Amino acid sequence: MSQNLHPLTPPVYRGRFAPTPSGPLHLGSLVAAVGSYVEAKSHKGEWLLRIENLDPMREVSGASEEILKVLEKLGMEWDRSVVYQSQRSAGYRAALATLEKQRLIYPCSCSRKEIMDSTLSGIEGPVYPGTCREHLHRRTSPVAWRIRTDNKPIEFVDSLQGPVRHRLQQDIGDFVLRRSDGVFAYQLAVVVDDAEQGVTHVVRGEDLLNSTPRQIYLQRRLDYPTPYYLHLPVVVNAEGEKLSKQTRAAPVNAANPIPQLITALRLLGQTPLPELVDAELASFWKWTIANWQPARIPRNVLTAP
Ligand code: GLU
Repeated sequence: MSQNLHPLTPPVYRGRFAPTPSGPLHLGSLVAAVGSYVEAKSHKGEWLLRIENLDPMREVSGASEEILKVLEKLGMEWDRSVVYQSQRSAGYRAALATLEKQRLIYPCSCSRKEIMDSTLSGIEGPVYPGTCREHLHRRTSPVAWRIRTDNKPIEFVDSLQGPVRHRLQQDIGDFVLRRSDGVFAYQLAVVVDDAEQGVTHVVRGEDLLNSTPRQIYLQRRLDYPTPYYLHLPVVVNAEGEKLSKQTRAAPVNAANPIPQLITALRLLGQTPLPELVDAELASFWKWTIANWQPARIPRNVLTAP
């Protein structure tokens, strides 16, 4: 059965930051890091770090080390050892086996084009029409593995964004848990890792809000608890594009961290004292944690200054 990577001793708040090492941290990822860190620390909780390097094709060499180095220079101290998804295949495989025993997953040989041609559309584009649900369409390997969904509503209340309700079969469709190239899907990995790391509170970007019902569906099938969720607004540039490597967002400059931390805090609706610019990192964090006001976090998209 599932091993608990970090057995939880009560009480509790255990949060996490889970960057994908596809490039350096930028203001958008910094906002997620700061939001999850201060939420955890202001609840006297733990803050774990997980490197989401599931997909070797997306991983940029040296990016993981760089992310850790920058967080350290920002004075953001994580608890326990860093978890790397590239080392967690056994856990993902075991979860897939549990789902297979319940006859919830099936192999799928449909091409990307066949899926994109689907006439069904959901909240994230075409919905897989279930071609391989009852039998494999073409007996070719390799195959992807999908999970059967149903139309029972999945509901949760996000601590910032409010109530969310999906009917997975119509809104999303049967989704992939393991790709045909063998890479485990984010939706499966995140659920297994959050459970095995004993994460109680997930604070992350709003771009993942629509993934949460899928994750709750998996948690229920795998008998895992559902954490609390808080989805922070995403940060966009002047053109309205989400900050990312693709939109050439500037990397966080670890040599002079406080001004960028102050920008992140302001975006999160906080009002850092002007004199914090000259503070030591330790006093900056002390002030920030003591004065954190989650009720001031805006719900909508943030524009980078
Ligand atoms: N790895 C994801 C990202 O960098 C975050 C996943 C999560 O927080 O659940 O966007």
